[in-house]
Amino acid sequence: MSRNPDSPRIADENQPSDAERKADSVEAGDSGTDPESDPDTDSDADENADGLIAENASRADEDEEGDGQSQLVEAIDPFSAPAPGLYLVATPIGNLEDMTYRAVRILKTSDLILAEDTRHSRVLLGHYGIARPSESYNDFNKEKRTPGYIDRLKQGGRLALICDAGTPGIADPAFNLVKAALAEGIKVYPIPGPCAMVAAVTASGLPTDRFAFENFPPKKSAQRLRKLETLKQRWGGDEQHAPTLIFYVSPHQVRQFLEEIAEVFGPDMHVVLARELTKKFEEFLSDTALKLREYYRERTPRGEYVLLLHPQNKR
Ligand code: SAM
Repeated sequence: MSRNPDSPRIADENQPSDAERKADSVEAGDSGTDPESDPDTDSDADENADGLIAENASRADEDEEGDGQSQLVEAIDPFSAPAPGLYLVATPIGNLEDMTYRAVRILKTSDLILAEDTRHSRVLLGHYGIARPSESYNDFNKEKRTPGYIDRLKQGGRLALICDAGTPGIADPAFNLVKAALAEGIKVYPIPGPCAMVAAVTASGLPTDRFAFENFPPKKSAQRLRKLETLKQRWGGDEQHAPTLIFYVSPHQVRQFLEEIAEVFGPDMHVVLARELTKKFEEFLSDTALKLREYYRERTPRGEYVLLLHPQNKR
């Protein structure tokens, strides 16, 4: 039923890191595949990792007009301040290592960091030595604070927006500021990174060619049932187009939501619960709604959950 990677979340100092292992194998002439026997191996693949990145970067230079083919571009000057505008900076969803170099640079050079909860973000900012002024921007103050931040952006400010975890704009208040900024012709830059629903769906084993993010289900049971009925009516008979449905679920909702899914879609509906992604107790539980409900008869749901199902996928 469950897959638990049980892998260390923070690199073990006594073990070589993946990057070190890769460097060792490059030095030893071991690329991991046999270039003679692998017809897909490019002859340029003898290059080390830096060489490959440089090659892609120079291709990107040639591709300044943008034909959609370029893969990687290096920051023009990693120490320069970012251009004015609003930066949506994705941050880890549990594992502090999941922060991009670019995210750190943007935060370190922004005029002001807008955080959903400044106390919560202090841990992350402290870990990366980011010492910039920060203010809260959340569901309670977004209406009041948006005009002031738009004024600052119009005057050439560089504002970075982060949420408690993951990608700003996904189930958090970022949308308000993005919409207001775009309405004023202000540049909005996504700085991509972790996102719980993307991590969950990609490793769930459910179809990824089409998926629908359904956010948090409604708080009241009657509304949740109505929502599930609507989704079933929309997708239950459409084998070709039905997307994988993705919900963020609070731990105290898990049991009841599983029961409601069994009631609407049937007890044999296949459900995946992605729990505590990127953290020490990360696990994927994959079974019928009924069996997962049984599983939680003895245990108490804890931590953070993403729940996924595909309307056509019964077990
Ligand atoms: N902006 C975030 C993102 O990009 O995923 C989501 C913010 S939303 C307010 C918080 C919800 O995301 C949690 O209640 C949980 O359902 C889901 N979530 C966040 N981190 C998670 C994790 N590490 N594992 C599983 N679910 C997570």
